[in-house]
Amino acid sequence: MATPYDVAIVGLGPAGVVAAALLGQAGLKVHVCDRMDAVHEIPRAIALDHEILRVFQQIGVVDAVAEHCEPFTPSEYFGVDGQLIRRMTMVAPPYPQGHTPSIVFTQPPVERLLRARVARLSNVTVALATEATSLAQDADGATLMLRRANGDEEALRARWVIACDGGASAVRGMVGIELEDLDFDEPWLVVDVMVNERGLAKLPRTSVQYCEPERPCTLVIGPGNHRRWEISLKAGEDPQQAATPEGTWKLLARWLTPEDGTLWRQSSYRFHALVAQRWRAGRVFLAGDAAHMQPPFLGQGMCQGVRDVSNLAWKLAAVVQGHAQGDAAQRLLDSYGDERGAHVRELTRRIKAIGAVICERDVAKARARDAQLLAECGGVVKDTPRQDVLPRLETGLLAPEATSGRGTLFPQPRGADGALMDERHGHGWRLVVDPALPAPAATAGLAVIVADARTDRDGVVAGWMQRNGCHAALVRPDHYVFGTAASAGELEPLLAAWTAQLH
Ligand SMILES: Cc1cc2nc3c(=O)[nH]c(=O)nc-3n(C[C@H](O)[C@H](O)[C@H](O)COP(=O)(O)OP(=O)(O)OC[C@H]3O[C@@H](n4cnc5c(N)ncnc54)[C@H](O)[C@@H]3O)c2cc1C
Repeated sequence: MATPYDVAIVGLGPAGVVAAALLGQAGLKVHVCDRMDAVHEIPRAIALDHEILRVFQQIGVVDAVAEHCEPFTPSEYFGVDGQLIRRMTMVAPPYPQGHTPSIVFTQPPVERLLRARVARLSNVTVALATEATSLAQDADGATLMLRRANGDEEALRARWVIACDGGASAVRGMVGIELEDLDFDEPWLVVDVMVNERGLAKLPRTSVQYCEPERPCTLVIGPGNHRRWEISLKAGEDPQQAATPEGTWKLLARWLTPEDGTLWRQSSYRFHALVAQRWRAGRVFLAGDAAHMQPPFLGQGMCQGVRDVSNLAWKLAAVVQGHAQGDAAQRLLDSYGDERGAHVRELTRRIKAIGAVICERDVAKARARDAQLLAECGGVVKDTPRQDVLPRLETGLLAPEATSGRGTLFPQPRGADGALMDERHGHGWRLVVDPALPAPAATAGLAVIVADARTDRDGVVAGWMQRNGCHAALVRPDHYVFGTAASAGELEPLLAAWTAQLH
């Protein structure tokens, strides 16, 4: 049977649609299906990071989504006696990635804009109301059985498959991958309210984590009049009753009455921490919620899915287009799960630690927590940028020497003309050197960028190099740093390690 598609993607949620856009832009022939016939109209994700906006920039939607985004207000954590114990903010300007570091957004219209982008790619076929029902693999590719809403069935061949079919992923089951439980399981109610002027006047001006043993809960200031509450449920409380309008208004009574706004949605969820035991089974990769789920305390679920597909897309494109072959191709593809698996586990560990601060139900322990957090900052709560919580890549396609900058997300400077680095230099491999080093000659497959006043107007790269004690960084297509060099003498082994790992 012919192999008409390079990649078949199952699921057109945030992970699937970004995968389709990235692979389509790279020139691959892509098929993407979703069993639903339209975007999910209920927002789930509400916060995103600058790293995701940089991916949106890459796929050409960052300006279009701006009207649905606002800067994320600080999140203030209040302890047992209502005192401030922690304050999560965002990194200060000049913004390292060229975008607001933390935003809140409205998910349905942003997803529609992402889909509209994919619709403009003639090499991407989108099949809505089409469910993947089975999958078989052989040496040359995979065959997916697709069932349309009218019952018609079709066999689709692709060289590679990405399962972006969400937390209950059927494809994950088809390839026999289990989820590992990272030990978090709590019932919460999530409520979205469109609040009127009268209601807004009653509410805090920042987002809040109420770290109260009686009932831990979260208030997020969303875009416009959108406010989200995440409210923990107590043992013995009925999640279904809590999710009725009456049950929900009762839980919101501390802040609002029904005259203060309109319920957009209220759903009870179990907040989980789960990760796939393997991220690849032959020709099939898992991405997004199909590969991991984490409690939403840092707003990272969708961000992690976009990180997954941003990590995978350039590797798959390199293999399909023959830039990586044989063992090097397999190593490159395996590095996806190695890198993302370790990153997800570490970030989930950190999110659980944040959750443990928020969710302490024992009053004595909660008071001890408050005292400890205040003692740690000398009694004056300092701002912690949310971005500081994110781990680096520790393993995978990286230079052998673990320097300070290796595995971190490289900044995106603005040039003197205001243009961002990726607009000017694209998304391939880049060697960025500061003017202290003689710039090496351009090598095939590697752009050389000198970070001077012309390309780094605000000194974002200069500051990064200084903090990381280096004068050059070799940056991957997904903007993670392969390795750094502190001198001209260290450049040669860095480039040799790059060549050895990729070719
Ligand atoms: C209450 C809550 C708050 C959250 N807050 C945040 C936040 O602030 N920030 C953040 O980054 N994340 C947040 N998240 C997480 C975020 O919403 C998810 O991580 C994200 O939506 C997952 O995207 P996905 O594309 O992997 O999966 P999904 O969005 O679940 O999409 C999967 C798609 O696959 C389709 N599908 C399923 N099975 C099949 C099949 N067999 N065939 C074809 N199609 C199929 C489905 O129809 C669906 O469209 C939150 C989640 C919740 C529940």
